[in-house]
Amino acid sequence: MKKRVRCLVQGTVQGVGFRPFVYRTATSCNLAGFVCNSRGGVIIEIEGEHTDIACFLSRLRTEAPSRAEIAEISCTEQEPLHEKTFCIVQSNTLGITETHCPPDSALCQTCQEELFSPGNRRFRYPFITCSVCGPRLTIVRDIPYDRANTAMACFPLCPECAAEYTNPADRRFHAETIACPVCGPQLALHDGTGAPIFCPDPLAEAIAHLRHGAIVAVKGLGGFHLCVDATNDAAVRRLRSRKCREEKPFAVMVKDVAHAEILAELDDAEKNLLCSPERQIVLVRKKKESPLADAVAPGMATLGMMLPYTPLQHLLLEKDFVALVMTSGNKTDEPICIGNREAIRRLGGIADFFLVHNRDILVRCDDSIAMTAAGAPYILRRARGFVPKPIAVHGSFPPVLALGPHLKATVCILKQDRAFVSQHLGDMDTPQARDFFHESIRLLCRIAECTPAIIAHDMHPGYYSTRVATDMEGRLKIPVQHHHAHVVSCMAENRISDPVIGIAMDGTGYGDDGMVWGGEFLVADASEYRRAGHVAYFKLPGGSQAVRETWRSAAGLLRTAYGSGWIEKALRLGLVPEKSVALLVEKSMEHGINAPFTSSLGRVFDAVAALLGVRQRTSFEGQAAMELEAVAGRCDGAELVLPYDIGEHNGVFLLDLRPAVTALYEYCCAGIAREVLAAAFHHMLCRACAAMAERIRAATGINSVVLSGGCFQNKRLLEGCLTALRRSGFSIAVHRLVPPNDGGISLGQAVVAGTRACGAGGNQAPRAVEKGALL
Ligand code: ZN
Ligand code: ZN
Ligand code: FE
Repeated sequence: MKKRVRCLVQGTVQGVGFRPFVYRTATSCNLAGFVCNSRGGVIIEIEGEHTDIACFLSRLRTEAPSRAEIAEISCTEQEPLHEKTFCIVQSNTLGITETHCPPDSALCQTCQEELFSPGNRRFRYPFITCSVCGPRLTIVRDIPYDRANTAMACFPLCPECAAEYTNPADRRFHAETIACPVCGPQLALHDGTGAPIFCPDPLAEAIAHLRHGAIVAVKGLGGFHLCVDATNDAAVRRLRSRKCREEKPFAVMVKDVAHAEILAELDDAEKNLLCSPERQIVLVRKKKESPLADAVAPGMATLGMMLPYTPLQHLLLEKDFVALVMTSGNKTDEPICIGNREAIRRLGGIADFFLVHNRDILVRCDDSIAMTAAGAPYILRRARGFVPKPIAVHGSFPPVLALGPHLKATVCILKQDRAFVSQHLGDMDTPQARDFFHESIRLLCRIAECTPAIIAHDMHPGYYSTRVATDMEGRLKIPVQHHHAHVVSCMAENRISDPVIGIAMDGTGYGDDGMVWGGEFLVADASEYRRAGHVAYFKLPGGSQAVRETWRSAAGLLRTAYGSGWIEKALRLGLVPEKSVALLVEKSMEHGINAPFTSSLGRVFDAVAALLGVRQRTSFEGQAAMELEAVAGRCDGAELVLPYDIGEHNGVFLLDLRPAVTALYEYCCAGIAREVLAAAFHHMLCRACAAMAERIRAATGINSVVLSGGCFQNKRLLEGCLTALRRSGFSIAVHRLVPPNDGGISLGQAVVAGTRACGAGGNQAPRAVEKGALL
C-alpha cells in the first residue's frame, strides 16, 4: 500500500548540501517524489512503502549534513501520484527565487580525506570544496548565490567537474564552488616587492621560507593573513615591529586538537568549539611551558587559537609547524586586505613573500573570535563562518537599517523576524574602514532584499555613522542610546520582549545627559528605557586620552575618595609621572576642563589596573582589563572582601565605589599581593551588580536580568555575576549569538528602532524621532 507524504523542513537547510542528501537518502529508500527549496524551508514529497517512508524520515534527522540544523519537520499526508522516480526540482522552475547566501564553511571531513588521498583527482588540490563546505559569502558578487554571481564565474568547468555538478547523486551536485586542478584556481608565489617567483611548487617554497623565519602573506577566505612560525621568537618580533603592533596578542593556527593541546589547556567545550565548521579563533588558557614564542601573546593568560579551515591551510600545517601565527593582513587599525595587488601594495613593507591565488575574495571577512563561558560558546567577534546567517528575533518589523557604533562596528538590517548583522567592520576612523562600512551596507541590502526607510543610529554627535545618518534624506531616523542598544541586543537574540533589568558594563557610550556612560543598570524593553542605576560619576581627566593612559582614570577615581588629597596618594603609588603633571590634572578636574563625568566600568577597570601597578599605559583597547583579569586568575584563593556602597538620588541607585577605592589603596600600601586584590575587586563587582539588581527588583518587581557591554568579555566578571545573580534568584540571559561588546550594538539599535516605528512595545509615542524626518 503506497503512501505519499509532504514534509516542510525548517532550520539551516539551504546552501549546506541538504537537497543532494535528501536525493541520495530518498533513492536509497526506494522512494519517488521530489525535493525543492522554498522561502519557508525545504519541501520534500516522498511516495513509497510505509516502512521506507519511516526509514527515510528517521535518516533525515540522523544523517543530515554536518552544517544542516533541522529545527522542525512538519509532515502531511497526500494522495499518491504513482511517480516512479525522485528528483531535485530547481527552485526557479517553481517561480521562487532563491536568494539565500550561506556563510563560509571550513573544509569538511570528506573533502579533507580526499585532499590527502593520493588516488583522488583532487589530491593536494588547495581549492577542493563540495556542496557542504568552502567559501560562500566571501566569493559573492551578487545575489542569488549561483556560480555565475561568484568569483568562480571565470573558471569554466572541465567535463569531469561538469558531470559531478549536474549529477544529483554526487556530493558536489550544484556545488557552486566546484573546481579541480584542471579547471580551477591555482596558487602562485610572489616576493616582497610583488614580483612573481616561478617555481614548480609555490606551497613547498612558501613552507621553506616560513621555516626560515620569513613573514608570508597568505590569501585566505575573507582576506589575507600574515603568517609566521609561532615558535620563532625573532620572527614574531619582526612581524610585530613591521605591523606596528606592539603587544596586542596574535592568534595562532594549529593542525588539529592534539597540537592545540601542546600549547593550551583545553576542556571538552573548548575542543568542540575549535572543531566547529565556523572555525573561529577560540580564546583558551595558555600553557606555561610550551614551545610558543613569548612575543605571540605577551602578558596574557589566554591564547587565541584556531584550526585550519581552507585546504591551503591544511596543506601549510600538514607536517612542518607546531603552530603558525595567523594574524589578519592589514596595518593596525585598517581593514583586512583582499585583492592580490591590494595586498602587495598595502603589505609590501610587512611581508617577505605572498602566497596568492587567482580566486578573488569579493567580501572582506575577518576571522571570528569566541570563547566558552559558563560551559557554552560565547562570541566576541562575529564575522567569517557566521555572516550572513540571520538571527531570528521575536516579533515582525518593517525594514530597518542600523548603522552601529564607532568602534568594533557592525551594521544590521532588520526585516520581519530576521536580523542580518554584518561582519565585524573594525573602527570607523580610517577612509578604508569607512569604504568597508558602505560596501557592507550595500551587500546587506542585497542579501536582505530591501532598502530600509528607517535608519537607527547612535546618539553620539561625533560618530561617523551619526553623520552618515544625518546625510541620508527622506528616511525616518531614530537615535538609540548606546547602552539601551546593548541591552536590547541581548534581549533580541534571547527573544525576550518583557521588560528586564539590563546591566550594561561597558567602556564608553554617549549618555542621554551628554555624559560618558558605561556602568548602567537600565529598566528596559525593546522600545524605551529608564536609567534605574549606574556607577556613581567620577571625573575623567583628559577624556578619551584616559583610554591609553590608565593612570588618568585612577586619578579621577581616587579624587572621588580623597578630594585633592588624591595627589599625595597617587605619588606614593607612583601613579603619575611627576607632581607637576598631577597638579595640572587636578586643575583640569577642579574646573571641569577636558575632564568629563563618567560612569564607565571599563575606566574603573583601567583605574584599578593602574592602582595595582598592573598597567599604567595601554597599547590596545581593553589591555589593562585583560591583564587585570589574568592577574586575578593567579590568585591562590585567598579571600578578601572589598566594601562598596549603594546610594540613591531621585529614585536612581548609585553604585558608590569609594569604599573599595580607599580599601584598595590601603591594602596596596600594606603590601597585599595584587593577585589577591585583583580577585577581590572582581568579586566585589559581582556582588555589587547583584545587590543593585536586587534594589531595582524591589522597586519594580522585575526578576529577569540581561548582561551586556564590553566588560562582559571578561570571563571572570561574567561568570561571577552569573553566580551572584543566580544566588539572588534572578532569571538571567547572556549573549550567545552576537558579541557583548559594541559588535552587538547594531542589532539592538535595529530592534529598538523597529519597535518604535511600529509603535509596539512602548506605551508612548516614539520620543526620539526627529521632527519631520518621515517623508
Ligand atoms: Zn567538503
Ligand atoms: Zn574540473
Ligand atoms: Fe559599548
